[in-house]
Amino acid sequence: MLLSIVNQIMNLRCNRCNKEYQTSIPNITVKYIEEFGEYENLPIQCPHCGVIEIFNMNLPINDTDEPFATGDLPLEEEIQRYYVRLLMRYVREDLK
Ligand SMILES: [Zn+2]
Repeated sequence: MLLSIVNQIMNLRCNRCNKEYQTSIPNITVKYIEEFGEYENLPIQCPHCGVIEIFNMNLPINDTDEPFATGDLPLEEEIQRYYVRLLMRYVREDLK
């Protein structure tokens, strides 16, 4: 889970081993895949247990495009989506 991004450093908590770790935003460009009609997802590997977490780079760009604080999502999830959007702006070819 993505907890925050500060100065292009991502703070994450592993979904499997539950440990927190930091990593720089990868210097890659996420491309649009015609075949699937969406952007590639971004994999980040936990340095502790090696599990790979996949981040969906296809959220609506603006949070106004989807209901906010509906209570449907836990607060942690809302926060994660906020930072995933930020991440999308660093890596997606159309947003860079
Ligand atoms: Zn882990």
